[in-house]
Amino acid sequence: MSDYCGTETADRAPEAGGPPFAECVLCREPTEYPESYKGITLCPVCEWQEAQRTACSG
Ligand SMILES: [Zn+2]
Repeated sequence: MSDYCGTETADRAPEAGGPPFAECVLCREPTEYPESYKGITLCPVCEWQEAQRTACSG
């Protein structure tokens, strides 16, 4: 008799706080991008503001 369907597997790898995040180029807040991200890193707030600006231009 197998009971594999009644037990929860607890073999999840513990997260160590995530990778070191890059700073926002505008306000230097931590972003959701890893430090090794190539390109402009924006925090969610600045990213949203940039989206608003580009949406209004033109
Ligand atoms: Zn920012």
